Amino acid sequence: MKRRIDRSEDEWRAMLTPFEFHVLREAGTERAGTGELLHENREGIYRCRACGAELFRSQTKFDSHCGWPSFYAPSDSDAVELLEDRSFGMRRVEVRCASCGSHLGHVFPDAPQTPTGDRYCMNSVSLTFEEE
Ligand SMILES: [Zn+2]
Repeated sequence: MKRRIDRSEDEWRAMLTPFEFHVLREAGTERAGTGELLHENREGIYRCRACGAELFRSQTKFDSHCGWPSFYAPSDSDAVELLEDRSFGMRRVEVRCASCGSHLGHVFPDAPQTPTGDRYCMNSVSLTFEEE
């Protein structure tokens, strides 16, 4: 697949902190309740920490009580790509940045209180926040 941003893993490693690299490029997960954007509730834009692409807007962020920042929809359906993830004996849907392929988190259809019913469960370390 042709991506807008196409860097080698060595290039990413040089640009990111070890923990950012682990989550974004090795599909790691930050510990629940520890992310810096979990309680962010200002108006603004959430971007991919690796490439800066816009991914989410604060209007779709909601308190899911799951321990990670949660959104019910991406800014644009083309902003993310969804992949089946069968790791750890589970069947989940992985969410990646469509621009650079970095891992963001998973999406679960378990949020009936939202307009879409979806919970995009994101790692804070995969995102940056820009207040508007
Ligand atoms: Zn990206």
